[in-house]
Parts: sequence; C-alpha cells; structure tokens
Amino acid sequence: MITPDEIQRVLAGYANHELTVATVGSHTALQILKGARDEGFRNLAVCRHGTEQVYQQFGVADEILTIGRYQELMDGTFQQQLIVRNAILIPHGSFVEYLSPRRIENELAVPLFGNRAVLEWESDRVKERAWLLNAGLRLPLEFTSPEEIDRLVLVKFPGAKGGRGYFLASSEAEFAQKLENLNLSDKAQFTIQEFVIGTRFYPHYFYSPLQDRLELLSMDIRYESNIDGLARLGALVQDRTPEPSFVVTGNLPVVARESLLPKILEIGQSVVTASQELFSPGLIGPFCVETICTDELDFVAFEISARIVAGTNLYINGSPYSHLLYNEPMSTGRRIARELKDAAELDALERVVY
Ligand code: AMP
Repeated sequence: MITPDEIQRVLAGYANHELTVATVGSHTALQILKGARDEGFRNLAVCRHGTEQVYQQFGVADEILTIGRYQELMDGTFQQQLIVRNAILIPHGSFVEYLSPRRIENELAVPLFGNRAVLEWESDRVKERAWLLNAGLRLPLEFTSPEEIDRLVLVKFPGAKGGRGYFLASSEAEFAQKLENLNLSDKAQFTIQEFVIGTRFYPHYFYSPLQDRLELLSMDIRYESNIDGLARLGALVQDRTPEPSFVVTGNLPVVARESLLPKILEIGQSVVTASQELFSPGLIGPFCVETICTDELDFVAFEISARIVAGTNLYINGSPYSHLLYNEPMSTGRRIARELKDAAELDALERVVY
C-alpha cells in the first residue's frame, strides 16, 4: 500500500529541471506528449506491444517503453524505471480504465499529475452524484424502483463500456420486458434515470491551484452510435425503431451561445469548490462535466470526468476559447505541462502532483 507520504518522498528526490512527462500510449497521449515537448520537457510513452508505431509515426515521443500488458506498469521494477527518469505520469481515460482507480491509489509509487483521490469520486456512481449535488448542479431525476417510471427514462449499468446495454423505457412494463431480454451478466445493478432531451455540451475545464483559476479551454459533443445514426432514419423506421445505443465513436467541435458561457463557467467553478470541501485539496488540472442544455437553457449534468477527456483531441492546436486565454496553441495536454513547468519553477510540485 503506497501512502501519500511515500509519493511525496519520491517527488522530493526528483531533479526539478530534469523531469520527464510520461503517459500511457493511448487516448490523449499524442497531445500530452506534444504539449510536454512544447513546454520544454523530455517525454516518454509507455506503450503496449503493437501500439508504439503511432507514437513513432507522429514523432512526438522522446522515449518509448514497451510492455506486454498495461498491468505490467504496476510492477515494482518497471515503476523504478520511471522513477529514475524523474517521471511524472499524466492520467487519462484509458490509463484509469486499464489500471483501475484502486490500484492506482494503492500501488502506484510514481508521482501522478493531479489528486489521486478524485479517481475514486468520479468512478463510483453514488459518490459522483453526491459530488455534483453538493456543487448545486441540476441532475437528471433518478427513480429507485421501476414502478415509479412516469416518463422516458434511460436505464444504465455500472461500468457499461460505451453505454453498452443501456436502454430506454417509458413504463414499468417496458422496463421489465427489456431487462428480461438483455444479455448482460450483472443486470441487477441498474440506475433508472430521466432521459433529458436537449443539446449535449461537454465543456473541457482546467483548474490551476497555482493561480486559483478556472479556465474553459474547449468543448465538444460526443458522436454516438447508433443514437446519432437513428436521427437520420426518423419517420422511415417509426414502427420498428431499433433500441438506441450510446457507444462513443467520435467527437464533434462545438461552441456554445455566448450568453450560455456564464452558466458553463459557474458549473466548472462550483464543481471545483465542492471538490475542495469533499476531498481536499480537490480537483487539480483538467476535467469535463457532461451536460445537456434544455430548451429552457438550463443545464442538466449527468457525469463528470476528472481528468483529460478524449474530446480535447479536437484541439491539439488550441480552440476558440483557449486562443482567447493564451493567444498561442494551447491544448489541454500542453496546459498540463504548463502547470507542471510553473510548479517546478516555483519549487511547488507537491501542489499539483500526488
Ligand atoms: P454515460 O455512460 O452516463 O456517459 O452516458 C452515455 C451517453 O448516454 C451520453 O453521452 C449521452 O448521450 C447519453 N445520456 C446519458 N445520460 C443521459 C440522460 N440522463 N439523458 C439523456 N441522455 C443521456
């Protein structure tokens, strides 16, 4: 079991001017590596056999270490290889999924950008909901029992990768029938949630503890199969509509109406403030709140990702918002490296690395 003190001891042994920014070769690694290099860091990608080619092809990695299975990253000897390089690991979606929040918290001695405690809060649905409610956000209604279903609901399952198995229902009978037909190992753990109709916005925020500042860096909408394809069929399949699914297949760039920006910034700030109360020092660095904007221009938040999200890959060269803030190409990956650089210069790495 790795304690926070042990990680801080490892960090204290690092040479501040010889840090290596490291990440797992997947998800948002290209922009993390490029951003690190743009900020003057050495960088390193940990790749699974067969995936190195992408990072070689784009020429963004100074060094590539190859492993057979992602779990090998947790081996003590492998971690030592990272530590001798003064490596700071940048977590992303695949990193957290492959290694699990618990293992990262308990077994990873390599310093990690951001607050590790956050991984548990975002991956546990009950804690996540408590956090968002604590932030004062409007959340989709949840029904504790199928008898209560009185509107269109989305039935979700824990850990359902890409929303697989999710289904829509409008009544208890429809719920029961669809649940029975579902081919899923753990059907008992469902969440029944009001299906909110509106425009989805996934704002990409960054919170800097060094400057105590929240930044809106960019925004996207996820493109999902087959739900986004169904919209094109419309009336053609009215009486035999296939069950919608929500498997992410891509990301679309989006900007919000300018008059919505105050609300979007407020959502980010309230989530940061609540995180500081719930798990001090709270959120550090990039995060995304998944929202739906209704026709009353109200935002309903249904999820939070407390790390860099894949939608930021649209903006390796910056977004309209990051351009206003920085006037130079500022991806989320590069923003992480900038925070590390500022912290190293201030001799305050322990404020952003845990
Ligand atoms: P999730 O697994 O919670 O990220 O949900 C996957 C996808 O389902 C989202 O990207 C949305 O398109 C859709 N979705 C999730 N929750 C809701 C909701 N309460 N109302 C409408 N759509 C939702």
